[in-house]
Formats: sequence, C-alpha cells, structure tokens
Amino acid sequence: MKYCDECGHPLIQKVCGIDGETPYCEHCQTFKFPMFNSAISAIIFNPTQDKILLIQQYGNQDYILVAGYINQGENAKQTLIREIEEEVHLKVMHYVYNDNEYFQKTNTLMHNYAVVVDSEDFSLTSEVDKAKWIPVENVLDVIKQGSLAQSFVKRYLEKSR
Ligand SMILES: [Zn+2]
Repeated sequence: MKYCDECGHPLIQKVCGIDGETPYCEHCQTFKFPMFNSAISAIIFNPTQDKILLIQQYGNQDYILVAGYINQGENAKQTLIREIEEEVHLKVMHYVYNDNEYFQKTNTLMHNYAVVVDSEDFSLTSEVDKAKWIPVENVLDVIKQGSLAQSFVKRYLEKSR
C-alpha cells in the first residue's frame, strides 16, 4: 500500500508498537494495516464419522469443502456454524480447529475446521449444486486434486490417524 485508501495521501513508515514499521497516513493520523479477506472451510463428518460431505458449486464438477467468507463483526466459529446451516442445513454438534493457509488468488486467509454434524440428511440452497457423503478413505481421491481443500483434509486425516 503506497497511498491512503481514505484520503489518497502518500503513506509513510511509522513504528507501531510490537508490529514495528507500519504504513501510516499523516493526514488521517491512522495506521494502514494490510487488508485481506478471511474465510472458513469445513471438513464435515457424519455422526458416525466414517464419511465426509463434499459439494459441487457454481456449475463446477470439482468436489470441494463447504466454505464461506467471515462477515465483518463475526468470528470464525460463528461463520462456520452459519455457513453449514445455510448451505447444507446441517447442525454442528462439535468442531475442532484444523489448520489455516493464505490463498493468494483471492487474497484470503482460510481457516479450516473439522466438524461433526447431527445428521446425514442435508438439503441444499441454490448456492450448492450437489452434495455427497464420501467414505473417509476415498475423500482424498474424490476431492479436487491439488486444491487447498485436499491439503486440509490430508493434514487432518494424518493428525487424527
Ligand atoms: Zn489518509
């Protein structure tokens, strides 16, 4: 960031506590921290935890994880529960944090959780084309190859083995 996004003044570098040198607008007297998006994605297990729910979205044939952007004012856990409710109408019984990764293409920090839902009886919103319960041992083959989603599932299964 070279210029203030509020007033257009050139930014200077100024020390900001433990963050050290940070872009600063002398006109607005405000530090300008780098902006990026935050989102969640979810490895959704059925109640017996032997299947994972994968979805297809926006006309794509790739199987991916349920995911969604964190709204301003929301925390990641609230987004997790809301997105699963909205997209597949399932209730989260419990969840654990898995891992996070920065995704350059959409300038997004993605937080991944593993969750267990209360039922296998999902229903879809218009945002989701198709959803399918996949046996855990087949998920890494079925999910979009080389995707962040695949990498999150792989890491989680290795940890929980
Ligand atoms: Zn400014």
